[in-house]
Amino acid sequence: MTPILSQSEFNDGLLDFLRASPTAFHATENIVNSLTAAGFTRLHEADAWQLVPGKRYFCVRNDSSVIAFVFGKKDLLETGIRFVGAHTDSPCLKVKPQPELVRKNYLQLGVEVYGGALLAPWFDRDLSLAGRVTYVTPQNTIASALINFKTPIATIPSLAIHLDREVNNSRSINPQKDIVPVLMQLPPEKSFNPSFKALLLTQLKHQIPATDAAKILNYEMSFYDTQPPTLIGYQQEFIASARLDNLLSCYTGMQAILCSDPEVSSLLICTDHEEVGSTSCCGANGPMLQQFLERLLPDGETLARVIERSLMISADNAHGVHPNFMDKHDENHGPLLNQGPVIKINNNQRYATTSETGAFFQWISEKAQVPVQTFVTRTDLACGSTIGPIVAANIGVKTIDVGVPTFAMHSIRELAGVADAHYLYRALIEFYSHPSSLVF
Ligand SMILES: [Zn+2]
Repeated sequence: MTPILSQSEFNDGLLDFLRASPTAFHATENIVNSLTAAGFTRLHEADAWQLVPGKRYFCVRNDSSVIAFVFGKKDLLETGIRFVGAHTDSPCLKVKPQPELVRKNYLQLGVEVYGGALLAPWFDRDLSLAGRVTYVTPQNTIASALINFKTPIATIPSLAIHLDREVNNSRSINPQKDIVPVLMQLPPEKSFNPSFKALLLTQLKHQIPATDAAKILNYEMSFYDTQPPTLIGYQQEFIASARLDNLLSCYTGMQAILCSDPEVSSLLICTDHEEVGSTSCCGANGPMLQQFLERLLPDGETLARVIERSLMISADNAHGVHPNFMDKHDENHGPLLNQGPVIKINNNQRYATTSETGAFFQWISEKAQVPVQTFVTRTDLACGSTIGPIVAANIGVKTIDVGVPTFAMHSIRELAGVADAHYLYRALIEFYSHPSSLVF
């Protein structure tokens, strides 16, 4: 078991994790590296599994979703499984399959908007590219690797106000036309024929000199802001970063499971594709978790009994009440930054919290001396959702949706409080340590 981290140790690690995880692939790789360093054993889904109580495992799907499992020594029928879920993906701009656009000798890359991105903050940023490339080797096999350009290699310049005097009153952003990043200025010779895949191959060889890649066949590359995550505020009371939604919860869940009690069974699932509905081979609305549980407990009745003894905490950020837009929250349900994790409630089941699971989270938080807030959306506003209701519906586990309060969700730079992720971490450690409390 890893010792419990102080708030500053925890936040230092969180900033490092955010910086090193520009995509869901990189986030998964970093989680895998931490699990491996802590002694978890990798399970390959194509192999036969022999899971042994007392050991710790993980498996990965699509390089972008990961399940970590602590197989407790105590009987699963007695303890159930403590699940924590989060998502590895964040809204961003992904490069199109044939992205090269040359206008006035500027090379631009066509992009597709992934998820519900706030587009305005993407202008005038120092952008880089990261993702996964799939290539063919000289032996005529196919392999994949993660690459990250790291340096600022592109930007989306704003249009000068002199060319659009109404911009501050009536701006709208056309995602096909207005946010095409500029990658480089080409030489004037007309014969120059830029190839994005050739750039990727050069970068791959630069990053992995021993690679035998002969030709890039395909890729999933995302633009990201190179400005590193940092603490800000006069008292350093805020964390500013991209992808706080939801890498903050992935990191928190990962650190909590490293501290979990080895006597009882705990599981962390971090899945891709939440921002686009979770329906994919590796998303929360796919079969990854169900298949994992069926391999752990092939007997259907035993699995059903264990699920009934289990509980899931779905962790995804909440909306803090914004001082400039206070009327966007219900007057009694406006979570504040640095005042603790938020229990998210929606009786229309956009969140999976019930009165029992909400009470349970309040109870473990009290035991961990963690303050708790609640959120319901204004009755005249639509409510967001997350993986909680999806997992609850798919495997039948009682679930609670929680998350730390943030500002600017889905911006290229979001804001959280320095205390809240650590509060959530302490609540999750408490959760991962109390099997008997799962029986209502
Ligand atoms: Zn989210």
